[in-house]
This record gives sequence, C-alpha cells and structure tokens, in this order.
Amino acid sequence: MIVFPSFVTVSVPSDITLDGDSSIILRIPRKASPESVTAALTHYGKRIRRIDTLADALFDFDADRGVLPTELLSIIEAGLGVDRSRALLIRAGTQSIAALAEFAATYSFPTGSWELRESDSERMRRMLTALGGVRAKVRVAAGPSEDAAASDGDAVLAAADFYLHDPFLATPVEPFHGILGVLARGGKADLHVFQDERRGMNYFVSGNGLISDAARSLQTPLGCIGDGWDAISGHVSNSPGFDAVTFMALRSECAFCPHFRFCVGYFREYDQDRDCSSWRRAFDLVARETNRGAKDLEDGN
Ligand code: SF4
Repeated sequence: MIVFPSFVTVSVPSDITLDGDSSIILRIPRKASPESVTAALTHYGKRIRRIDTLADALFDFDADRGVLPTELLSIIEAGLGVDRSRALLIRAGTQSIAALAEFAATYSFPTGSWELRESDSERMRRMLTALGGVRAKVRVAAGPSEDAAASDGDAVLAAADFYLHDPFLATPVEPFHGILGVLARGGKADLHVFQDERRGMNYFVSGNGLISDAARSLQTPLGCIGDGWDAISGHVSNSPGFDAVTFMALRSECAFCPHFRFCVGYFREYDQDRDCSSWRRAFDLVARETNRGAKDLEDGN
C-alpha cells in the first residue's frame, strides 16, 4: 500500500483509505453512503484540506419540489466544522439555477465554493448571478465539458466577462481572478495550480485505486495504491511535460500562444487536438482588461 509523504496533496474517493501524512482532498462519489463518509472523515481527520462533492450527491433531486438536503450534507457540515483552513467544493451539474441558489443560500459553509462546468453562455451568466447573489465563491472548471452538446462555445467568455464587468460581483470567479493577479502582479501560478494539478505535488486516486498526477489522465496512470511511493514518484518525470521546450519540440501551437505563461498548455497536455479557442477568447479578454487597467493607472485615470 502506498504511503504518500506529507508534502503532497491527494484527491481520493471516500471509500478508499490511505495511510500516511499527505493532505487529503476527499471526493464524495455520487452513490456514497453516509456511513462510508463518516468513516472517511474519522480516518483522515485534520488531514482533510477540502471535500469535493457533486451537487447530485447532496440533493435528493426532485425538480418539482426543489432542494432537499440529505443526511450526507449534515455529516459533511459536521466534519468540516468551522475550521477555515478546510473547504467544501460543490461541482454543479444540471440542477436548476433556482435549486442551486436556494441550496447555496441555505448552507453557507465558511469556506465553501462552487465549480461550474461549461454550459451555454446564458445558463453560465444566470448561475454566476444566482451564486454571486448569495456571495458564493465560484470557479469555472478547465476540464473537458461533461456535456459538450450543451456548450455554445461562449460560456467561458461569458464567465470572464461577468467577473470583469458585472457591477454586482461580490466574490472572485476563478481561474480569472488568479490569472488577473498573475498578469497584474507577476508570480508563477498557472492553470495547473488553480486546478490542483501541480506536478509532483498533487495526486489523484481513482475509484479502482489507480493513481495519476492529473484528474484528466487517469487513463494513463502512474501506478496503483498497491505500489510504493518511490514507484509512483519515479514516473512523474516520464509523464507528459508541459514546459515551453516540450511544446516547442512538438511544434505545438502552445509554444507561440500569448497565454502560455498562465496556461502552460493545460488544455492540450493530454489531447493535442483539444480545441481551446473558447478559453483563449476568455484569456484575451482578461489580458486586454489588465492592460487597459495598467494604462489607466499610468495616465492617472
Ligand atoms: S490556451 Fe491553448 S494554445 Fe494557448 S497555451 Fe493553453 S492550451 Fe496551448
């Protein structure tokens, strides 16, 4: 059984038990039983840095009657307590916007946030407005859309535009908030950091015990939980790189992309053909607004 060292953070489903000192991002699977979540919370205790869950796992979802929080939610709430160093991330799916907003307003976890996947731009705007209205923190997932058919290609741009221009914005929308910080103040954070995929620092364990260094790459695992740390960590340098030299060698578009500094080829790392144009349009907007802000400061406006 692998024992991860204390300097790494491992995302693990609540029905798999890991020993060791690593920080834990505990994932609650869709069909998790309250008993298994209670056992995981007890086992990992203070090691838990965040709990990730699908909204579907928390809702007794009935479109006509709205949100019915389950026993699971109470268990998670009790497990997190009021410790501000720990957070809850809820991955929204296809729930109604009214249901999401009601849920967010009812359960204001001290450090809770929402992850939204690409959808159509109108739904994205309405979700951001609803969650912003209850001061919920939001991040737009950079992973592939689960429902590509529902995406109109402009949802990411709509989210960036909302973050930059909506007069009622109350809390950050990631990753645009982080990218704006990188552009305005410098620093080395990139999309891998915002997505908890720091190479050699973040690991993901799948439901069948395979280990990868990105949630997107579980089909090319580094090993499994039966392996030792040395076996896993030794594979990191062999996994797909995302430095400029690698992309230059591959003659990838990434090497010449103006957003490489904070994207670092994130979208094409595991799929050279992935279309990242919707994200590039959003990055263009953030970069343009940062430049405009800097110029206004110079001009004393
Ligand atoms: S935005 Fe696309 S082209 Fe640019 S660095 Fe990222 S993945 Fe590469």
